[in-house]
Amino acid sequence: MYIGLDIGGTKMLGGAFEKNKLLRTLKIKTPTATTAQEITQHILTLIKDLAKDSPIDGVGIGIPGSIDRATGSIGFSPNLPFKNFALKAVLAETLKCPIAIDNDVNVGLLGEHWAGAAKPYKNVVGLFVGTGIGGAIILNGQLYHGKHQIAGEVGHMKLKFDGPLCNCGEKGCLEALASKTGIQKMLEPLGYKFEGVVKSSWIKDQFDKDNKDVKAAMKRATLALGEGIGSLANLLDPEAFVLGGGLIEALGESWLKRIKDQVKLRALVDPVIKTSALGDHALLYGAVRLVQTALP
Ligand SMILES: [Zn+2]
Repeated sequence: MYIGLDIGGTKMLGGAFEKNKLLRTLKIKTPTATTAQEITQHILTLIKDLAKDSPIDGVGIGIPGSIDRATGSIGFSPNLPFKNFALKAVLAETLKCPIAIDNDVNVGLLGEHWAGAAKPYKNVVGLFVGTGIGGAIILNGQLYHGKHQIAGEVGHMKLKFDGPLCNCGEKGCLEALASKTGIQKMLEPLGYKFEGVVKSSWIKDQFDKDNKDVKAAMKRATLALGEGIGSLANLLDPEAFVLGGGLIEALGESWLKRIKDQVKLRALVDPVIKTSALGDHALLYGAVRLVQTALP
């Protein structure tokens, strides 16, 4: 049995697989104000609850942040207490089975490539639009990580000289123009107040109610995604783009159509653009694929 895990700052989702078939899932809330060791204990409990008493052939993990793929050590993970923490070694010590860890966005696209929307393609770019904008690239059927493991950070492509400030500290990134955070920062000076990050469902609801401020923010997001995906198409000419994440899921096909129209205006080609097929389960599939392909 293989176990795939999606470890995030608010929830941990796990899936138990027999070969490539998802048998069952389990979700727990990620405890806050805790230590790396305690989080690891929760991860171990989740794995054991998923496996029941079956022997575990491998565990794959998708987690946000910077991961040293050679050692499976987590340098930093936003909203999780991992700092230079050897998660792979600690888990392997207890579980005595192969463990593989990669960045959540890479793992998500790997899942879509193995079992979802990107399955027919060898060269594909994934963009995940939510609180931020994550991206990943598969070239010749393999995840492309780049020299410093940051390849696919499409959210931080600079689109607007002297544009709005981004979470990364730079200005005018795609993420600052088209993510939920970017949309929220455009609405707040107009008097809108939000608790935490604005919800995708609220944006969808206001858009449908013809809220002109939300429509203006969404128009900017659509143009920015058109520019960004258009530039990526010109740079990489992949067979397809797969779009996912909370905002894409909430706004649905009508938004996808408008993004496609913008890409068509801007790119030298008219690329295939699809929405993710696996939704919340993409990371589970990707994590299992990760550990299976890492086996000797
Ligand atoms: Zn940025």
